[in-house]
Order: sequence, then C-alpha cells, then structure tokens
Amino acid sequence: MSNLDANPAEQDCRAKDDPGPVADFHEARDVPLGGVRGVHVMRALPQRVLPTVGAWCFLDHFGPHAEPMNVNPHPHIGLQTVTWPFQGEIRHRDSVGSDVVVRPRQLNIMTAGRGIAHSEFGLETGAASHGLQLWTALPDEHRDTAPHFEQHQDLPVYELPGLRALVFLGTLGGVTSPATAYSPIVGADITVNPGAAATIPLTNYHEHAVMVIDGDLTAAGTDVPPGPLLYLGTGRSELTLTSRAGAHLILLGGEPFREDIVMWWNFVGRSHEDIEEARNDWEKRTVERFPDIAGHTVEERIPAPPLPGIRLKPRGRGPR
Ligand code: MN
Repeated sequence: MSNLDANPAEQDCRAKDDPGPVADFHEARDVPLGGVRGVHVMRALPQRVLPTVGAWCFLDHFGPHAEPMNVNPHPHIGLQTVTWPFQGEIRHRDSVGSDVVVRPRQLNIMTAGRGIAHSEFGLETGAASHGLQLWTALPDEHRDTAPHFEQHQDLPVYELPGLRALVFLGTLGGVTSPATAYSPIVGADITVNPGAAATIPLTNYHEHAVMVIDGDLTAAGTDVPPGPLLYLGTGRSELTLTSRAGAHLILLGGEPFREDIVMWWNFVGRSHEDIEEARNDWEKRTVERFPDIAGHTVEERIPAPPLPGIRLKPRGRGPR
C-alpha cells in the first residue's frame, strides 16, 4: 500500500538510545486515505517518540473492509514493503515486471532500493480486505540496491505447546524466514491458543513490540487489547504470552536502527535532497528510476503531494 495521506507530515526519525525493557503503549492513529469510499487505516508506526522498532518504520493495519482496497501506482525508495493479508487476496504489480496475487499467510516483500513503483489491488473474491502493510528502512549500505520483488508462499513456523508463530521476516527461536532481510530483524504472526501460556525466546540486544489483531493477550505481565502497539524496549531474552480465549498478534523487533532517516510520503532517505530528488523523479516520470508498470495508464499514477515549506530533516526522538 501507499501512504496516501494527502498532506503527509515530516516524520521524526533520529536514532535513539537503548531504552532497556519497558512496556509502553502507543495508540494507532486513524488515517483517512481519501477516495469515494472513505477508506481509512490505523497507523501504529511511525510514532513521534517511536519512529522505528528495529528497522520496522511503518505499520498500517487496514480493514476489515467489505470492499477490496485498491492502491494505484506509486513510488518507493530506501525501504522494503511487506504486505501481510489476514483476509482477502491482493494483486501486486510493479515496475520490475512482477504481477502476482498474495493470499493470507503468504508474504509479498518488495525491496525498493534506489527506486521502484507498484500497485496493489484487492481481488473481488468475496472475502473482506484485512491485513497489515509494513515497511523496513534499508540500512545506508543497502538503500541504493537494485529494486526487486519476492513472494514466499511457504513460511517457516516456530512452535511451542499452545503457540504457533509464522516467521515472515528475520529470525525467531532459530527459525528464519527465506525472505531477504537487510538488518537483524524479526516479524512473526503468532497464534496463542485459548488458555495457553508460552514463552518465546528473544534476542536480548534487540528491541521488540507486539500488536494484538484479535483476542485477549497478556505479554510480559501487561494486558494488551487489540489495536495499540505495545513497545517492549530492549534487554529481554524471552517474552511470556498468555491468553484466556485465544489471541492473534504480530511480533516485530530487531536491532535498534541507529541511522537517522528522513521519511516522507513513500520515501525513506537521509536528507531533504534525497526526498526532493525522488519526488522530482516520480513527478517528471523519470523511467530510468521509476519505470512504468505494465497494465496501468499514466493517468493512474498517484501524484506526489507537495513538499512542506520547510526543509525535511531528521529530528530528535523527544523525551520518553
Ligand atoms: Mn506502496
């Protein structure tokens, strides 16, 4: 998906200090995406005081919507997009020639590198449209990499009695996703059975967060309702998850991302100039960077919003 916010604010993305083990809630905010149907998403990342969790820099929870979600061609740089549907099927097309359908429990991951464009259309298959759109920030040494797309239909499972985790990116408990990751990271879709208590291993020097999609969960002694992100900080070697009636949640984590980034619209860069150049290349239809997508007309391209009147710059994370 795209950040379709008509007037996206500059994000606050300075590298942060090591917080240690914490349990802080960050409410997702309702972001209208415009359009005739008034579709909106709940955006849990970035937060003003929490721009990233590991390299995860963007987390939208969309749906369930009765109607399919359609996002026309738009560009990305400096990041990976991760499309993770819970319900419904999504057709992905991009400027490196991909044209595929992703289904629940399958992963679409697109590495934008120096530049890519894509579209995502929900298929009219009768199911509701419900899922997550995530981005990872590419570390400096990889952010100009050649754009490419991967789909993974069979993802590995980390299992404990009463708990099942589909590892879609990175590593959990020695189980590693086949998807290409550019920093030490974890993304897992976890089911906790009714009445179960299970303790998953974490990498102590990574930071982690959980978000409940459905059900009731207690994580590290904190009751977690569906909706907000529970940021767990660093310094945890394990995490105990319990549920009375069962839970479906997402675990995100990774090595704290220590590079200052500038994030604006659908771009992750390091400077105002990075963003301005990418915006100009999209607006001028510079096909060397953002080739056209087969099957889409030029008129379907989503125009970039105007840059704000101030220079974009990474800013401090602010007091906790
Ligand atoms: Mn997108």
